[in-house]
Amino acid sequence: MSTITIIGSGITGVTTAYALAARGYSVTVFDRQRYPAMDTSFANGGQLSASNAEVWNNAATIMKGLRWMLRKDAPLLLNPSPSLHKYTWLAEFIGQIRHYRRNTIQTTKLAIAARQHLFDLADRERIAFDLERRGILHICANKAEFDAASHVNELLREGGLDRHPVTPAEMHAIEPALQGDHYGGFFTPSDATGDIHKFTRGLAAACERKGVRFVFGAQVSDIRADSEGVLTCWQEGSSRNELRTQGAVICAGIGSRRIASMLGDRVNIYPVKGYSITVNLTDEASQKAAPRVSLLDEAAKIVTSRLGQDRFRVAGTAELNGENRDIRADRIKPLVHWVERLFPGVCTAQVVPWAGLRPMTPNMMPRVGRGKKRNIFYNTGHGHLGWTLSAVTAEMVADEIMTRDGGAQRH
Ligand SMILES: Cc1cc2nc3c(=O)[nH]c(=O)nc-3n(C[C@H](O)[C@H](O)[C@H](O)COP(=O)(O)OP(=O)(O)OC[C@H]3O[C@@H](n4cnc5c(N)ncnc54)[C@H](O)[C@@H]3O)c2cc1C
Repeated sequence: MSTITIIGSGITGVTTAYALAARGYSVTVFDRQRYPAMDTSFANGGQLSASNAEVWNNAATIMKGLRWMLRKDAPLLLNPSPSLHKYTWLAEFIGQIRHYRRNTIQTTKLAIAARQHLFDLADRERIAFDLERRGILHICANKAEFDAASHVNELLREGGLDRHPVTPAEMHAIEPALQGDHYGGFFTPSDATGDIHKFTRGLAAACERKGVRFVFGAQVSDIRADSEGVLTCWQEGSSRNELRTQGAVICAGIGSRRIASMLGDRVNIYPVKGYSITVNLTDEASQKAAPRVSLLDEAAKIVTSRLGQDRFRVAGTAELNGENRDIRADRIKPLVHWVERLFPGVCTAQVVPWAGLRPMTPNMMPRVGRGKKRNIFYNTGHGHLGWTLSAVTAEMVADEIMTRDGGAQRH
């Protein structure tokens, strides 16, 4: 296989394009958007976080989720309207509780490997993306949260991560801007943050320098694979176009399920909606009052990133409501209030809201590797950790393609 189609130019598609181009493949990337990283890889929480590798398939987390559903501003929301996909996905999600331990440890290992790949990539291609390597501070409001996080810590440790407990005084020393009373927390010095959109666009430009062709504004409407290769059909306005290549990698985020079904594969991805706000820190006082160290607030299920001098990103919420991208004011308000409560010195006059859909599988593990047809591959379904994991899953899928080809393409 020397020619490859990639569907999707989010973080998974662009890292895959780069990994394949570096191995000597001729790559064409299709996306329905006009630019790379315009969908879920646009304004996420920003965390490159091995410390957030815990999968959610845990009886205690599910019980907490059910209790939350009674609260109006809860971080979890389930639209109860009938939907076969939603309820079958949820049933499979619950069925995966038995693999909670194994999948959390495996995700931790993947995340640790991925961070290093991403830092190396950014260095090699000189990509500026507001990287902050100051660690992630996990905040616990009470003893119950701290004890639950201690249990998770054992699994993270087993995966090779150094995340250690910290006292309230140590938390304030790590992040002096942090206000309020906290029971305690955990600190992961090796974690980092950065702007996924800036990184993906920078890497897409590096891909183009390596000869990757991007076709934007191209909605892939049909794809077929046989022993001759892969035929990708796409719509550009009213015109229908076709390209034949020898293989394809599906990196289409929440669109992967539909494309997989055209190819005879089942890739059970459900769109789990989340929200972010980007607070523009327009004055010096706000810049001083906003944290530099990334935070994860266990009670509110909120993550934060400082993006350069003048932006503070705050993200959270998991909403099961199908392919719905509406930005709801009642979901944005709790994020703004959280900033005002923990960082009262930050001016919230300029807040940019966003909603995105996490492409989530029932076991919360990405689908990486071959489909039923021997020339079809997947690198998709990274759920709540796509920014963290993509740099390594792209290498994994590119290696698998090369192995299938007998390593023939490497320069
Ligand atoms: C609120 C929120 C906070 C998050 N915070 C973090 C975080 O802190 N750390 C972390 O690691 N992860 C985080 N994530 C998760 C992370 O953002 C995602 O896992 C990641 O962006 C998914 O990337 P992707 O390439 O799979 O999908 P996308 O970025 O959505 O890319 C898929 C692309 O495929 C294209 N496409 C789909 N179907 C077709 C078609 N038929 N034809 C042509 N093009 C098509 C789409 O247009 C899109 O551009 C967060 C997500 C959300 C929503």
